[in-house]
Amino acid sequence: MSATIIRGGRVLDVTADRAEPSDVLVDDGIIRDIGRPGMAAPEGAAVLDARDRLLIPGLVNAHTHSQGALARGLPGDRVPLEILLTTGAAIGGSRALEDKYLSAQLSAIEMIRKGCTACYDLFAEYPGPTVDGMYAVARAYSDVGMRAVLAPMMADRTLYQALPGLLDAIPGPERQRVEALRMSPYEASVAVCRDVLRGWPVDRARVRPALGPTIPMHCSDDFLRACRDLAREYDVPLQTHLAESRGQAVLGRKKYGKTLTAHLGDLGLLGPHFSGAHGVWLDADDIRRLADAGAGVAHNPTSNLRLGNGVAATRLMLDGGLRVGVGTDSASSSDTQNMFEALRWASYLSRIGTPDYRRWLTAAEAFTMATAGSAGVLGMDGQIGRLAPGYRADIVFLDLTRPDYVPLNDVLLQLVFTESGASVDSVMIDGRLVLDRGRLLTVDEEKVRAAAEAAAARLRGANAGAVAAARALEEYVGAFCVGLAREPYQVARVLSLDA
Ligand SMILES: [Zn+2]
Repeated sequence: MSATIIRGGRVLDVTADRAEPSDVLVDDGIIRDIGRPGMAAPEGAAVLDARDRLLIPGLVNAHTHSQGALARGLPGDRVPLEILLTTGAAIGGSRALEDKYLSAQLSAIEMIRKGCTACYDLFAEYPGPTVDGMYAVARAYSDVGMRAVLAPMMADRTLYQALPGLLDAIPGPERQRVEALRMSPYEASVAVCRDVLRGWPVDRARVRPALGPTIPMHCSDDFLRACRDLAREYDVPLQTHLAESRGQAVLGRKKYGKTLTAHLGDLGLLGPHFSGAHGVWLDADDIRRLADAGAGVAHNPTSNLRLGNGVAATRLMLDGGLRVGVGTDSASSSDTQNMFEALRWASYLSRIGTPDYRRWLTAAEAFTMATAGSAGVLGMDGQIGRLAPGYRADIVFLDLTRPDYVPLNDVLLQLVFTESGASVDSVMIDGRLVLDRGRLLTVDEEKVRAAAEAAAARLRGANAGAVAAARALEEYVGAFCVGLAREPYQVARVLSLDA
């Protein structure tokens, strides 16, 4: 790849809250130099004009699910997590390999168009992961040109086996039906993972594999230990949904006699390669445990609101030295994979926990969490998430002529508190321009759109019976979870004024 010089853009300096016109030299996918306008460039370097553009590091989505894109809008309106899980497998069922590839393409296109250049994807297949499915999704990211960490989202227990007491809350024939449901045995999933890791089909610098035992209670301890060992053996990251809902926290304590985090700690899963998604229902000891292990959390503020899970204690996580990134969750669990919204909500939500405004997350903290913080969660600390020499050239060009930036009084505040993604003009990933002034260069979007409409229509038909059967269970699962609200549970909260 030859060199590119990006001329005249304003390069965001988060720490100084400034964006001075600068030139950026990119070579072989890496930012080599950032200097004054007119900076010398190697002969033959391609020139990109970035006047009236704000250059920011690509946002990094620390938690999503690519299978969600084809299922946009399907889960329903007032849907708490456990009801989402009741219908998840039915909605995501019947997919051919091309559907899995297509959903990941759609998901990646959405993220790129909203200024996100890398994601941590916990991709689910039903009833269990396959080598072909994982490779299809890896190729989808590679073809669209997006960076990703891709983990198979796996469980060896159904929702009804996972949540203690849930089966008893389901009457008669419905109960017999769900009792008969089975997930893939964990040994089969582990064998698939081993094959996936061995023969990884695309450039690991851009799309790399990871492991995703989905939710602790949905995985047997043997399964979790096997994932732990495999992650160590192949030196790959591991992510799980951690204490996402209040129900999970209450039932986890009931099941294990300790918190979910303590349980994972005792199984030896916590470490620098580990991240927990959501982490809404962590107590102070959990936060310390995760921090001591060098682990990370993917904070998903918009998803946590959409599913009614609550507000994570991000200030306490940062105080505790925890690595915190920002994620959106999938297009079918929290609707929009808009990292600009997610990072804004990360800052806003910190403001309802305490009247002590000195404890609120600043715009700089929220932006840093959604870039460098998420990079750490992806295991790419020091490689992505900043615009600086030596970092990979993942650069988003924002149009400064749009109303949000006129007049440009405070670049960081205007970026964090007003940007909707509508100003995303061009996107470079790994030194390659994938979005050029609103036009996607890597795949034919019109073709993708047509394929998506056709696939969605076919899948809605194929899954109609299974979805209806799953919907019949929602009221029981819902009532069971509402009942759990009576059980007290103490979490870490920034509630009172500090001394
Ligand atoms: Zn999730």
